[in-house]
Amino acid sequence: MGAGHFLWEGAAAVRMTSLLAPTLREDPAEAETASHRLMLRAGLMRRLAAGIYSYLPLGQRAIAKVEAIVRQEMDRQGCQEVRLPLVQPEELWVESGRSAKYGEELWRLKDRHGRPFVLAPTHEEVVTDLVRREVSSWRQMPLILYHVTNKYRDEPRPRAGVMRAREFVMKDAYSLDRDRDGLSASYAKMREAYARFCTRCGLDWRVVEADPGAIGGHDTVEFVALAGEGEAEIVYCERCGYAANVERAEGGRPAAGAEAEAAEDAGGAAAGPVRLHTPGVRTIDELCAFAGVPASRTSKILFYWAEHAEGRCELVAALVRGDRQLNEIKLGNAVGARRLAMAGREEVLALTGAPVGSAGPVGLRGARLLTDLEVAHGGGFAIGANQEDWHLLGAKAGRDFDPGEVADLRLVGAGDPCPRCASPLGAARGIEVGHMFALGAVYSQTMGALYRDDQGGSHPIEMGCYGIGVTRTLAAVIERHHDRDGIIWPFAVAPYHVAVVPVAAGDDGTREAAEGLYADLRAAGVEAVLDDRDERPGVKFKDADLLGWPLRVTVGRALRDGAVELRRRADGKTEMVALGAVVATIRERVAAGLGETAP
Ligand code: ATP
Ligand code: MG
Repeated sequence: MGAGHFLWEGAAAVRMTSLLAPTLREDPAEAETASHRLMLRAGLMRRLAAGIYSYLPLGQRAIAKVEAIVRQEMDRQGCQEVRLPLVQPEELWVESGRSAKYGEELWRLKDRHGRPFVLAPTHEEVVTDLVRREVSSWRQMPLILYHVTNKYRDEPRPRAGVMRAREFVMKDAYSLDRDRDGLSASYAKMREAYARFCTRCGLDWRVVEADPGAIGGHDTVEFVALAGEGEAEIVYCERCGYAANVERAEGGRPAAGAEAEAAEDAGGAAAGPVRLHTPGVRTIDELCAFAGVPASRTSKILFYWAEHAEGRCELVAALVRGDRQLNEIKLGNAVGARRLAMAGREEVLALTGAPVGSAGPVGLRGARLLTDLEVAHGGGFAIGANQEDWHLLGAKAGRDFDPGEVADLRLVGAGDPCPRCASPLGAARGIEVGHMFALGAVYSQTMGALYRDDQGGSHPIEMGCYGIGVTRTLAAVIERHHDRDGIIWPFAVAPYHVAVVPVAAGDDGTREAAEGLYADLRAAGVEAVLDDRDERPGVKFKDADLLGWPLRVTVGRALRDGAVELRRRADGKTEMVALGAVVATIRERVAAGLGETAP
């Protein structure tokens, strides 16, 4: 093979007649969101099994662009690319304690000898195992390793195409440092890289405080692309900049005024709560109407079975204000459970001696009670009396019942006071595209990844881990950039930048001009598509809109005047450009388009 085979002969370009991009006229029935629908309709991917997709040429090119951006931003921060195995011995997961914690999401398999393995959902264990062998001195750090590979999670509910898939592409990075300061510096670098990544992909994004979940560790933030159909709910404060996933958003104690007021009305019944006969009252609404108290002066108790990592189950009771929702993630974290399941009505009856609507915390035995901060510090509340059709008014934690463990348990939402500055919070939905954790010594301690300092002392390596969902990012880009007609690719992620569309293709002059322009664009390094199909102009235009090329050149009637029409997909603006100037103009537009989202 001659060296010529390896020479670069212009940019990638393709003819529509040879492109495998099977477009669909109708919305596929399985599609749940705009990105899911358009990724199928524009022929970017096809479903093989639930949450498992084949990416066709256009989908693969878009993914490659997202990967290229993420690699550039990692490399800019001095990270080093590796490639870690997707098949991992399960024993590493047993060693870290996560085999049990991850539960059924961990995709397990056996080799021919019956040895247990898992398909990689993430790589903390593999990295920790690697570095406990290879990194032993303070001189070898700081170090940030990353790779871009498939991940496997046997999600209970795969959803919305690649948004929540069972096989997906993730960029994951792992920072290794000597101490907390080093970790903070690495974390800051990655935060910058993620911000640049999101901006370059054309996302409208926010960084929010997140829930550490099963992974453990200290600081954790998510990068959320705002999208109406996103799964993530966030709250944010316009005044001080606080932003958090609602899974995590802090509820806190009642406002100072409310606390004083509550203390006062509890004082009215200083001797203790008042018993009230409440026949037929089952819900908070009914209690409010019957007893004439606002919902904020009532409190409800919820019972759960908490399943712990070792498979041990424990009955848990959570007390929150009647007008609040319990945040199950906070409760799960507070009791250290890997799963929560609502207890049954009979179980509540057996435990408290009362049906669900009359159950309460007074004298509660046989369940681990947790009380939300607002109730614990909020004075008197109307609560169930643990006797059918009876309630207590003005019951106060600490005086009338033992609050058990006091914790922040409630779900925070729009209008609630900001935990930092007390201004009302706003709420939005979005897609979590990136997530970073300052792990500290969680894994290095458990798995024995130690290094020696310059004095010969031994310490656990301080670690951080950082993930970006590459395929999910692609879906987020389409959620953000589409209209009724199809995708509107930002230049940075577009599979190709321009489509050359000859109309009246039967005409030799038109065909030759289009072929010539296509060849020139290609030679000039422009990623171009030639719509050489024998189709009516309307069909070609419709497909160009669906496929979302940022630019379209129509070669047709204006040729008589030596011109072609250049159209921008984003705003539909058109201009006539002289044939001789069109390659230079397109190059300029592509460069500007790529520059638009460069931070
Ligand atoms: P989620 O809360 O959405 O389940 P996670 O917290 O489990 O995500 P991480 O472990 O932080 O996810 O993974 C890093 C990134 O990988 C996520 O920010 C997301 O972009 C992507 N990701 C995670 N799970 C999936 C999935 N099932 N399908 C596609 N992308 C995913
Ligand atoms: Mg996450």
